[in-house]
Amino acid sequence: MATKYVYSFGGGKADGNESMKNLLGGKGANLAEMAGHKDLRLPVPPGFTITTEVCTYYYKNKRTYPKGLKENVHKVLVKVEKLMGRKFGDTQNPLLVSVRSGARRSMPGMMETVLNVGLTEKTIPGLIQQSGGNARFVYDAYRRLIMMYSDVVMEKAAGIEPGDDMGIRKQLERIMGQMKKEKGYSGDTDLTASDLKALCGRFKEKIKEALKKDFPDEPVQQLWGGIGAVFASWNGKRAISYRRIENIPDEWGTAVNVQTMVFGNMGNDSATGVAFTRNPGNGENQFYGEYLINAQGEDVVAGIRTPAPINAYSQSEHNKDLVTLEKAMAAIYKELAGYRNRLEKHYRDMQDIEFTIERGRLFMLQCRVGKRNGPAAVRMSTDMLKEKLIKKEEAVMRVTPSQLDELLHPIIDPKAEMVNKPLAKGLPAGPGGACGQIVFSANDAVEWKKQGKKVILVREETNPEDVEGMRAAEAILTARGGMTSHAALVARGWGKCCIVGCAGLHIEYAKKELHVAGKVLKEGDWITLNGTKGNVYEGKLTMMDSSQENKLLSEFLKDCRAIKRLGIRTNADTPEDSRRARQFGAEGIGLFRTEHMFYGKGSDEPLFILRKMIISKTLGERQKALDELFPYVKKDIKATLEAMDGYPVVIRLLDPPLHEFVPREKAKLEQLAKDLNISMEELSKRADGLHESNPMMGHRGVRLGITYPEISVMQVRAIFESAAELLKEGKKPYPEIMIPVVCDVKEIEDQLAIVKNVYTQVLRKYGLRKIKHMFGTMIEIPRAAFVAAKIARVAEFFSYGTNDMTQMGFGFSRDDIGGFVPEYIKKGILADDPFQTIDQEGIGEIIKLGIQQGRKTRKDLEVGICGEHGGEPHSVEFCHNVGMDYVSCSPFRVPIATLAAAQAVLKAKKR
Ligand code: PEP
Ligand code: MG
Repeated sequence: MATKYVYSFGGGKADGNESMKNLLGGKGANLAEMAGHKDLRLPVPPGFTITTEVCTYYYKNKRTYPKGLKENVHKVLVKVEKLMGRKFGDTQNPLLVSVRSGARRSMPGMMETVLNVGLTEKTIPGLIQQSGGNARFVYDAYRRLIMMYSDVVMEKAAGIEPGDDMGIRKQLERIMGQMKKEKGYSGDTDLTASDLKALCGRFKEKIKEALKKDFPDEPVQQLWGGIGAVFASWNGKRAISYRRIENIPDEWGTAVNVQTMVFGNMGNDSATGVAFTRNPGNGENQFYGEYLINAQGEDVVAGIRTPAPINAYSQSEHNKDLVTLEKAMAAIYKELAGYRNRLEKHYRDMQDIEFTIERGRLFMLQCRVGKRNGPAAVRMSTDMLKEKLIKKEEAVMRVTPSQLDELLHPIIDPKAEMVNKPLAKGLPAGPGGACGQIVFSANDAVEWKKQGKKVILVREETNPEDVEGMRAAEAILTARGGMTSHAALVARGWGKCCIVGCAGLHIEYAKKELHVAGKVLKEGDWITLNGTKGNVYEGKLTMMDSSQENKLLSEFLKDCRAIKRLGIRTNADTPEDSRRARQFGAEGIGLFRTEHMFYGKGSDEPLFILRKMIISKTLGERQKALDELFPYVKKDIKATLEAMDGYPVVIRLLDPPLHEFVPREKAKLEQLAKDLNISMEELSKRADGLHESNPMMGHRGVRLGITYPEISVMQVRAIFESAAELLKEGKKPYPEIMIPVVCDVKEIEDQLAIVKNVYTQVLRKYGLRKIKHMFGTMIEIPRAAFVAAKIARVAEFFSYGTNDMTQMGFGFSRDDIGGFVPEYIKKGILADDPFQTIDQEGIGEIIKLGIQQGRKTRKDLEVGICGEHGGEPHSVEFCHNVGMDYVSCSPFRVPIATLAAAQAVLKAKKR
């Protein structure tokens, strides 16, 4: 049998269906489904699809068509004519068609379209008659055809590349502008039928002059011109570069859809509209949409006229005075509502519908899975599960992790964001939106907050001394730093909106000015941040709270938990964070960074003592300071173990280079000198002595414990004593002691000796026989992964520190990537920021090797991740696939990681 190249649809029948996307393109397959599936049979304007195979043939055979195509097209066109009771090219009752592209995957705006094909001097009177004598409408359609056709077919498809502003469309637009000026009109709608008729004449003259060819006033010629132009646009510049970016193969080709034109602008019995089978803004199971009487589809989108609500439910402040479709055209509304039900049942998901009413007759132009925001996504998936429309697995796959994120933070009202242009863009370090007045120092942030003001802290970068101000601010914006910089890490932990590495900012601290995008903003000026996208806006944008749906969220997460395999822990440094994470469903702590008790609220005293310890010169001095510090450390650890009662808590021994804690302010330095009974000179000598050229690779992590064992002893004692006391109180503490920055088994052997020793002492002191605990290490230096088999002899668990692993694996300083990584991404050298999503090709291989080696020695080795990647959905999937036991992330990302872990199971099953 000869290959079938043309598939028709319409009149309750279709040759194709939804499963034929490869052959008919996404649009063609969907039109066939809507028109022909027995459960749907919607009134789709009839038409036909020329397959993608024709496109392939066209390019393989010097832009010619397969034999018999023309005959086939004309045969199918006759079918369409019969269905519509109109004839293509007929002078009395002409049929007009649109010619559109449609590849397997949608490539919005990348290829060409020609509308109103079949309209000529000869068919104009017939169309005027069809429209009930609306000559203005017809000449407007004609001038649109001439503009579109000359541009798309006669110029672009012919390979003509005019100079700037000399394209035919631009030239015709100028003629139209000139005519409006001559007549003193302000808008296109002022042009009368005779104006438009004259305009079409001028257009044709210009086309002849510029392109040396007549505009084809012949229907069949127009049709083939349109079809050829769409096929040619598959290899247009725009389409080619889009395919490169989206990884769409050149061989796919596009289909061409030729479809009856229907007009919503034929008078007051015509209309056009867009609707959703459920409310995409909140997910309610209610038909929701808007329409415009006597208008074309693009008028709804363009926002020139305010569309009216289709029903009472869709009414809002803006449109409440306009008549609903339900009232204006009751029978049509009923018909439309019926299709809504059929579509939902058939597609089992919310659909976005485009419809047109032409002189009292309803046509369905398009339906597709509708976009929705986070709260709506969660509501729809839980509702549809209850309605038995979908299964649990499907419900879990219906919500994307970023949609879940929207539920957990206030966000900028999407409508406000659509009409405002960002001033600058940075890295999206802490999600959600925030709005506040600019301050430039942490102290000011604290002060202004006390006065009841909302502030955004704007800094070059932040450091531990800014933490109080960061807490006080609604959001943090920095000019430098990457996704694991101090500001990003701290903000994320709190679930606070934050943008870092915003290179377009220039801050003048002395003048309290922010220079951005050619503007100068001063202290107290309002800005609004979208931390999910990294956008900075000037002024006060409207905010929206999307966290009210929490009951639904917990139902949804319960379904996710029933499916996931990975454990979900949290990185939490305070008892409050631990409690919050528990509420979100965290199953333990994967990283308690001991050093964080020296920042933030109530940290003044312990920080001062820590500083004394750091500046100490002799063991005696240091031991004295450690003894003073002990009760603070123990108190924090005990409260956290208690908050996580029954769940494991990974407590990491001190990690950062000590000099990070040395104060910079003179007053604080003086106080320290006084307390230590040393001169300022001596103090600065000691502080200078701590200076390192490369502190990230300096005296930090386990190296501190090896050089100053007494620091480890104090911490380990605090852990065991806290646990012992809790045991005595009838609780179930479960500490996992973790050694950071390890590169060799001997390092942890050294620390294990300390742990064992202190453990025996504490057991004796409390008269206990056992305290349940584990001893393990971080794997964050590449070497550690290579020698993991040896390390696992001593370590009972591994926790991947992928922040440092990425830093040391790439040789990219995690605090300085702002200067080059954005350019790497722009140039396609890196697909993503490796500090946000695990680089699976490189760092991922190191991780796999470490797990393999470690489990060779110790079969039941517990493996987790505690770097920032632990809450990033792609990385969570990777962690599932390489067999980790758990991921750990900031409290606010626990729900996201839970969803990603469930989706990882379902995706692996599908493979
Ligand atoms: C890491 O390196 O991934 C990690 C969790 O430790 P930190 O970020 O504290 O260095
Ligand atoms: Mg680290």
